[in-house]
Amino acid sequence: MLIDLKTKLSRTRDNLKGKLDELLKSGKTKDDVLDGLAETLILADVGVQTTEKIVDSIRKESKKTDSLQNIQNLLKKEITGIFADLPYTSHLKQSPGVFIMVGVNGGGKTTSLAKLAHRYQLEGKNILMVAADTFRAAAQEQLSIWGKRLNIPVLKGQYGADPASVVYDAIQSFKAKEYDYLMVDTAGRIHTNVNLMNELEKIRRVISREIEGAPQEILLVLDASIGQNALIQARQFLKFSGLTGIFLTKLDGTAKGGSVISIVDELKLPIKFVGVGEREKDILDFSPQEFVDALLS
Ligand code: GDP
Ligand code: MG
Repeated sequence: MLIDLKTKLSRTRDNLKGKLDELLKSGKTKDDVLDGLAETLILADVGVQTTEKIVDSIRKESKKTDSLQNIQNLLKKEITGIFADLPYTSHLKQSPGVFIMVGVNGGGKTTSLAKLAHRYQLEGKNILMVAADTFRAAAQEQLSIWGKRLNIPVLKGQYGADPASVVYDAIQSFKAKEYDYLMVDTAGRIHTNVNLMNELEKIRRVISREIEGAPQEILLVLDASIGQNALIQARQFLKFSGLTGIFLTKLDGTAKGGSVISIVDELKLPIKFVGVGEREKDILDFSPQEFVDALLS
């Protein structure tokens, strides 16, 4: 792998593994170490509920042995267990395929869409991007800039146009020119939550009516650097039923990477991709094993 997750996660790692190592060397009793572990997890933004679940489980398991060193392995096992049984690999394998990005403004939707488009472009796919955020001229402009930079066509609607109708028009062009993937950028105004969810439903309906089996992926874009607040935002989007996974952004340099664990634990949605920077190549496939290793090995 070109980008090293361990380096990107170093601040979270220092928070978690660094403090855990100190605890294990501290000579404290097992109970005190476990209390310290709970505190450490919460400080790393793992969230109260998920932390309690993890520490309770370790407490039970660790009754069988007196070895403190075993606590680190049990922690790994618990976190790995939270990540188990979800489909982390992206569905988008055959053309024609459709991707939709949803999430609040500023989370990284447009950037992440461009990253994905670039990745599939490198695989030789023909991509069409559509700016369905018709409420902010700047949002459309931003996607156009990415399009020019990556040499990928972008369709935009009229300012204030119905986003679903913009997507409908894009689909006609998509079909006529036989593109492989249509990548849809959407608006993220949560202060009009009900409208936004209806709007997303409508976009999804138009797509499934026009292209069989589509959309293959509806990714909720969440900003890892805001820690537990990402989870609060995510809950709003659970009202929109079609989500297939998470694109977790800004994992580079954050000390709040522990939030990843509670996001998966609570939402039961797989993280499919991770953003680790602002450039088009700053994207990784999420691998639970790699994540746990980067945090604790
Ligand atoms: P949108 O409003 O959801 O479309 O979000 P944008 O794509 O406009 O991104 C908001 C800001 O976050 C921009 O300044 C991006 O460059 C930045 N950004 C997006 N993804 C990442 C990432 O993975 N890491 C970092 N460091 N910044 C990111
Ligand atoms: Mg945007």
